[in-house]
Amino acid sequence: MALTVLAPDPTGVPTGTYRAAVVHAFDKPLTVEQVPVLGLELGQVRVRIEAAGLCHTDIHAAHGDWPVKPTPPFTPGHESVGIVVELGPAVTEVSVGERVAMPWLGYACGVCDHCVSGWETLCLEQKNMGYSIDGGFGEYATAYARYVVRVPDGVDPFDAAPLTCAGVTTYKAVKVAGTRSSDLVAVFGVGGLGHLAIQYAAIAGGRVVAIDLHDEKLELARQLGAEFTVNAAKEDPVAAIQRLGGADQAIALAVSPRSFEQAYRSLRRGGTLVFVALPADNEVTLPIFETVLNGITIVGSIVGTRTELREVFELHAAGRTHVTREVRPLAQVNESIADVDAGRVTARIVFEP
Ligand SMILES: [Zn+2]
Ligand SMILES: [Zn+2]
Repeated sequence: MALTVLAPDPTGVPTGTYRAAVVHAFDKPLTVEQVPVLGLELGQVRVRIEAAGLCHTDIHAAHGDWPVKPTPPFTPGHESVGIVVELGPAVTEVSVGERVAMPWLGYACGVCDHCVSGWETLCLEQKNMGYSIDGGFGEYATAYARYVVRVPDGVDPFDAAPLTCAGVTTYKAVKVAGTRSSDLVAVFGVGGLGHLAIQYAAIAGGRVVAIDLHDEKLELARQLGAEFTVNAAKEDPVAAIQRLGGADQAIALAVSPRSFEQAYRSLRRGGTLVFVALPADNEVTLPIFETVLNGITIVGSIVGTRTELREVFELHAAGRTHVTREVRPLAQVNESIADVDAGRVTARIVFEP
């Protein structure tokens, strides 16, 4: 069937088709193409995208890396921010013209034990932006009004985009870690997530040691408040962190099981290791004996709730956090994925549609 290509309506409501980056097969690059504008269902809104961050999860989605795979064709993107241009039936939560963020948690049931106890991120009925719902790598996206989060005035949409996943995920990880003043927090991996984790750990009162393989990322870590840095390509991070007394909490953000094992061994007695990154290689080897005798806690942390994203935006609006990002046109999606995979990107890449 031939699609009619029409220019977007000047009021912002698209007609006919719009441009989006689409995954057709896990072993093929994304294609930027015209996709049809679909009708809005109950509770949905249409958002004109202003900014869409590139998260590692989008790359795993596009490659089909994880045990639960999305179904092509689909559009990635779960760090997107834009303006509401159209309301579907029964939407009361947001209005046309408001700026909203569309996080990974695109929908949850709202009534299960997880949802009603403040753990909507564990809802078994959840749908995820850029995975089971088309995401923000396009000119428009459709979202459930109840699960978008308003972006406060004064927060730049290109900052808001990385905060929508990298920000809320690391903010939650620091909460789950239980960081208190004077704790030593080891942040393994200073990328899109790590550069924000450092800031949230410092806001919580922690002293931060940042670990990465690239000196320029460690320089950024120091600028953002890390007191100590370790280049794990040149020095054993376990020995270096144990010389500091061991970490009270370690946050594993690098997509490498070896880095998770180093994070574990960098803990002091009674320490907590938070699993956040999701390497394609899904196994780590950790000792039982030391975990028991040293009273180690290991905890997984997945994104954050709408409330936590509001808190993240509030901190940013108050000038407490800095987002390091690089804006690129969406047409460069495949080159950008290659750059992130090769570790060539210090900052978060944020696409402009
Ligand atoms: Zn993400
Ligand atoms: Zn639920």
